[in-house]
Amino acid sequence: MKKNASTLCVHAGNRPEGAGTLTPIHLSTAYDYREEGEVLYPRYQNTINQIVVAEKVAQLENGEAGAVFSSGMAAISTSLMAFLKAGDHAVFQNDIYGGTHFAITEELEKYGISYDFVQSTDIDAFSEKIKPNTRLIYIETPSNPLLKIVNIKAIVELAKTNDCLTFIDNTFASPINQNPIDLGIDVVMHSGTKYMSGHSDLTCGAVITSSELMVHIKKSAINFGGSLNPMMCSLLERSLKTLALRVRQQTQNAQLLAEFLDKHYAVTKVFYPGLPHHPDHNIAKQQMSGFGAMLSFEPKKTASEVTSKLKLIKPAISLGGVETTVSSPAQSSHAKLGEEGRKLAGISDDLLRVSVGIEDVEDLMEDFENALK
Ligand SMILES: *Cc1c(COP(=O)(O)O)cnc(C)c1O
Repeated sequence: MKKNASTLCVHAGNRPEGAGTLTPIHLSTAYDYREEGEVLYPRYQNTINQIVVAEKVAQLENGEAGAVFSSGMAAISTSLMAFLKAGDHAVFQNDIYGGTHFAITEELEKYGISYDFVQSTDIDAFSEKIKPNTRLIYIETPSNPLLKIVNIKAIVELAKTNDCLTFIDNTFASPINQNPIDLGIDVVMHSGTKYMSGHSDLTCGAVITSSELMVHIKKSAINFGGSLNPMMCSLLERSLKTLALRVRQQTQNAQLLAEFLDKHYAVTKVFYPGLPHHPDHNIAKQQMSGFGAMLSFEPKKTASEVTSKLKLIKPAISLGGVETTVSSPAQSSHAKLGEEGRKLAGISDDLLRVSVGIEDVEDLMEDFENALK
């Protein structure tokens, strides 16, 4: 678990001159242009609620600069478009978030940007796709829904020898369980809708990088306009104060639940990086400070037989909330892939993905026990 994380969650970015312990919500969109310094305007991401929460996420990721956005996709697409131009090429891990996958296949070609997807998590497979005009390598680890792990340090080395930037979607790990900037990654992105907000009530995104690279991202952010409004900044600031507390409990519950399911007679397979038999367990151990709170498993029954019997645990897309939820990738996030596509990706039709919450783990086990038997 990240050192000092709990303290940073509570205190990082706080303004001592502010009124009380929480930053007041400044709704104003119009500021005096005669004031010293830059002109304040929310789309410029330079108003007080935005600055405070961006500073908190930057410190949580050990980055020089942070920015918050109106969604994870706003953070991701703005960051990509800040560095890619016509004629460039980019290399993407294939099993990234579905929305990101669509953004790449539906948008990049329009701007004359070419790309390749890497079907495996092996470094050699990434290396094979690199071309002289490759500008960046993009990864997401642990991945959705099979919790595959990419070796971050090896990706950074590969990028350095080929003069590319490295991007990572760190949503699944959260800043509590993995800090990619410490491993040499250039740009870290989050869907703040998930662990950062943690209560399934707010959509936002975050980017953390060096001050130098942030200049470019901020420029694109102003042009594309995906800024986060002050009310949501305040909700995010409030949520981040308990991030370490929540994620620590969720991670602990996930480990126990993974072990429980792994031993269960009605379960054929469990995917969780914290299990010693996970193929990338050793890499996960090296680069993560906790194995995260997402896991997947294949029950002997059908997915719908299991989900229909769960009482406490609700079927839901999205993840990272305080409540445990379950989803069937074949019926939700990976439905568009089709049967063939899912088979290729190793996603069985009865695979269930669990986002583990902060409940008492015995109650979660009991709910699964009743649904599985
Ligand atoms: C949800 C999610 C996103 C997209 O975030 P939004 O807030 O929905 O825009 C990106 N990456 C991952 C891994 C996600 O889970």
